[in-house]
Amino acid sequence: MTMDQVSESVDNLVQQFTKLPGIGKKSAERLAFHVLRQHESEALALADAIRRVKENVRYCQTCYNLTEQDQCAICRDLNRDRSRLAIVEQPRDLVCLEATGAYRGLYHVLLGRIAPLEGIGPEQLTIERLVERVRGGQFQEVIMATNPTVEGDGTALYLSNLLAEFPVQITRLARGVTSGSVLEFANREMLSDALSGRQPF
Ligand SMILES: [Zn+2]
Repeated sequence: MTMDQVSESVDNLVQQFTKLPGIGKKSAERLAFHVLRQHESEALALADAIRRVKENVRYCQTCYNLTEQDQCAICRDLNRDRSRLAIVEQPRDLVCLEATGAYRGLYHVLLGRIAPLEGIGPEQLTIERLVERVRGGQFQEVIMATNPTVEGDGTALYLSNLLAEFPVQITRLARGVTSGSVLEFANREMLSDALSGRQPF
């Protein structure tokens, strides 16, 4: 018996699960059966958690990190080093750098990277706001912490040219992070080394 023959609702749940990254048809069916076995309160808690993040979580007005307020916890934290700005692609990259505990500056999340082959240009990222922030003049160092991929490097190069007119030092994470890997998969020590060994761009 396949799931398709069980019920339309179950089939729909399987379809939703297969849209998740790394979840194939088999895993989706396993998850759907799991939900069917769960107590109603437990299953609905999952549905509610999804609804709550979609309703409450938004982008920080300053740095585009995720937050439930106008400004994220990092931008609000007066103990952060406000002379340094690390540029990352996604909020999850910021989380990885934070986990190292080696960086105390501020961030700017691009919400992507320049990828001409996918039709993603600079105007689709948060670059305008970035330039505005750097123009504000409080930063001494801007750290390119985009991923060490072709697109990440290209984005860093584009941004360093764009920011060259401002009196800030532009640096890039050291190659402790293996080329082609993404920050998400680098371990804490590698990232910490990459931060401490950063080089002028
Ligand atoms: Zn923020």
